[in-house]
Amino acid sequence: MDFVEVYQHYFNYFWDYSWTRLFNLKPTNNVYWVILWCVVCIGLEYFLPKKMNYDSFKRKGFWLDIFYVIFYDILFVGLGILAFTYTIEHYFKTFMGSMGVEDMVLFNLDAIPLFWSILILFVLQDFFEWVAHYAMHRFDFLWAFHKIHHAPEEISFASSRHFHVMEIFVFKSFLYLPFAVLGYSSQMYTYVVVTIFIFDAFFTHCNIKTNFGFFNYIINNPETHFWHHSKNLPSKYGVNFASVLNIWDYLFGTYYLPTDKKPILGIDDSKYVPNSFVGQQLYPFKFLLFGNGETTKKGKVKHKKKKSKNKKKTS
Ligand SMILES: [Zn+2]
Ligand SMILES: [Zn+2]
Repeated sequence: MDFVEVYQHYFNYFWDYSWTRLFNLKPTNNVYWVILWCVVCIGLEYFLPKKMNYDSFKRKGFWLDIFYVIFYDILFVGLGILAFTYTIEHYFKTFMGSMGVEDMVLFNLDAIPLFWSILILFVLQDFFEWVAHYAMHRFDFLWAFHKIHHAPEEISFASSRHFHVMEIFVFKSFLYLPFAVLGYSSQMYTYVVVTIFIFDAFFTHCNIKTNFGFFNYIINNPETHFWHHSKNLPSKYGVNFASVLNIWDYLFGTYYLPTDKKPILGIDDSKYVPNSFVGQQLYPFKFLLFGNGETTKKGKVKHKKKKSKNKKKTS
């Protein structure tokens, strides 16, 4: 099969999968998990005291973030992007086969209890996400894309899906490869990521007051993650990179939770990042080519005005 045929094959598969799964109620269907997690977080934000003094549902960018949720968790699979990833994986396996490596799986996971294989997957995935996330803050090229997640100056649960499409290739596609080699099926991997990591991502962006006490050192929560979104920090590259386990930040010296001040959300470049989905997806490329000045000379004044209006609202 040539490249177009392989791509067409996977595109048709994901097209069917994404539309039939909408009406297929079963625990492995991630659409229903995402809807459930959204409902839980809407409830938390509605009933619990707010962390920041803006309305989580009327805040700037709320509906754009809802679009991001629908785009990544429902439409994305049907848009052919995963088909592209699978096509690459197909050629990778073909290449490895031609080198004489037919079976890349290292372990037979059926030999250990399910609980342990899920626990190992969870801890490894969380660590890999910490490393990938740290890299996104540490390297300028990656930061140009990750900035999209940090630009909003008001966040709530749906902000967890507000990120650049390139992050899918770093966080999602490549992070699965080591698990494939370890013997994990893509179904088990997806199930654990959707049930634990996506819920945690929604939860840590909820605009709610939490008091985890000692458990702040262990579990990521809005208290620690809002500091990750803050710009009044002691470190240039950021703090609190954890997805679920804050232990990694504690171990590597990037844990930060002051009690004597409040986070100020956003980044210095927030005013340059466009407000539209397409604008946000194009921004990193423009930024890498031209920087902020030349690309948004007109929009600069407009964004500055918006920022000062926003400052009044949050102060
Ligand atoms: Zn980040
Ligand atoms: Zn975040």
